[in-house]
Amino acid sequence: MTFTDRDRAVEAAVARGLVGAGEPVAGLLDIAGIRRSAGELRAAFEEFTAPGTPVLHAFAVKAASLVPVLKLLAQEGLGCEVASPGELALARAAGVPVARTVLDSPAKTLAELREALALGIAVNADNPEELARIDALMASAPSSAPIGVRVNPQIGGGTIGAMSTATDTSKFGVALRDEGAREWVVNAFLARPWLTRLHAHVGSQGMPLELMAAGVRALYLLAEEINEKAGRRQIDTLDIGGGLPVNFSSDARTPTYREYAALLHAAVPGLLSGRYGLVTEFGRSLLAKHGTVLARVEYAKSAGGRPIAVTHAGAQVATRTVFVPEAWPIRVAGYDAEGRPKTGAPVGQDIAGPCCFAGDLVAENRPLPLLEAGDHAALLDTGAYYFSTHFAYNSLPRPGIYGYAPDSDGAIRFATIRTPQTLEELTTESGSDHAAALDDLGRP
Ligand SMILES: *Cc1c(COP(=O)(O)O)cnc(C)c1O
Repeated sequence: MTFTDRDRAVEAAVARGLVGAGEPVAGLLDIAGIRRSAGELRAAFEEFTAPGTPVLHAFAVKAASLVPVLKLLAQEGLGCEVASPGELALARAAGVPVARTVLDSPAKTLAELREALALGIAVNADNPEELARIDALMASAPSSAPIGVRVNPQIGGGTIGAMSTATDTSKFGVALRDEGAREWVVNAFLARPWLTRLHAHVGSQGMPLELMAAGVRALYLLAEEINEKAGRRQIDTLDIGGGLPVNFSSDARTPTYREYAALLHAAVPGLLSGRYGLVTEFGRSLLAKHGTVLARVEYAKSAGGRPIAVTHAGAQVATRTVFVPEAWPIRVAGYDAEGRPKTGAPVGQDIAGPCCFAGDLVAENRPLPLLEAGDHAALLDTGAYYFSTHFAYNSLPRPGIYGYAPDSDGAIRFATIRTPQTLEELTTESGSDHAAALDDLGRP
C-alpha cells in the first residue's frame, strides 16, 4: 500500500488531536497542492496568451471564504472575485489589492456599488437597473474603476440544473438572445465611454468544456461587434468567469487548466492574442482536490440489514452532497482509530452525519472496509464549497480548518486556518445577548 500526503496528514491530524473526542470533525487543506494548482492556472494561460497580455486570475471567494487561503492565493499571484460585502471584507482582510478584486453579484446594493466605485474595484453590472444606478453614481462622483456588463450567452446548461448559469432563463446577466437584448447591450456601451469590460460566467460543475468555450466565443464576438461600432477599442478586457468542472470520482485532477486554455486558444481565435486583457474567476477547480473533511465515527450500527457508520460529518459540512446526492456524489475513505487507512473486505454501508434528519447521509450503501466506533471517515475532494461553507443545522459548530504540508524531513506540519467555533460564539450568534428580548413582547 502506498501512502499519499493525504494519508500522512490524516494520521498526523489524529495523532495531534486535531480530530478526536473533543473535536470530532475538522477540515484539512493540502497547501502545497493549492500552490501547485495556482501555478498550473497561471502557467496554462501564460502558455497560450501573447506575451504582455494583462491577465488577472480572480479566485471566486465563495469557493473557500477563508482569509489565510485568500492570502496564500494572493501570494501565488491571484486576486479575488467577490459577490457580497462579506466576501469583499475577507479579500481586504487578506490584503488583496483593490486592483486585483472584481465585484460580481446579481443583487448589489447602492451602498455596495458606491463603495466599490470609490475604492476603484472592478464592477460587472448584472442588469439594466443596476447599470442605471452606476450611471447616477458616475454622474455624481466619476470613478476610474473598470466597469463591465455581465451577459448570459444562453448557450445551454450542464448536467446540474441549479449550477447552470447560461440557460435561457438563468438569473444572471443580460440574456443576450432575448429579443432586443443584444442591441440594448451594444447601445449601452456606445452611450457610456466608461464601460470597458464584458463579463460572462457560463461554466459550472457538470458543464462540458466545449459548451464553456462556446459561451466565451459569444462574449468575444459581442466585444468585437461593440468595438467595431464604437470605432475604437472601447472594450479592453474580457472577464471569462470560472466554472472549470472537477473530477470527483478519483484522484486524477482533470480536466486541466492547460486543456481549457488550449481549447479557448483553438475555439476563440483572437481571445488570447493580446487584443484584450483577460480576467478569469475560477473557484472549485483551484481548491476541491486539496481538501478533506475528517470525522470520527461515533457509533457503528445497523438497520434493516444495512451497516451504518454514524459520523460527525453530515449536512453541516457537506450540504450539497446530502441534499442533492445524485448531483454531488463524493468519495469517502475509511481510516482506523489511529488515522491509518482502514483495511478489510469492502462492505456496503451508509456513512451518516450527526444531523437530526433521516437524509443526513454523505454516502449510501458505499463499499468500504467496515467502519467501527472510533474509526474515521474522510470525505475527499471537499476543499471547495464544503467545510468553508458551513450550514448551521442543529447548531453544530463550524469545525476547525488546518492547512498541512510535508516538512523538508517529510513530517507533516499543520497551520490553523480557522479555529473550531466555540459554544460561546455559537450561543452569541444565536441571540444569547438578547435572551430576555421577548419577555414582555406580545403579552396581554
Ligand atoms: C461561483 C462563481 C465563479 C466560480 O465558479 P467555480 O465553478 O467555482 O469555478 C466565478 N464567477 C462567478 C460570477 C461566480 O458566481
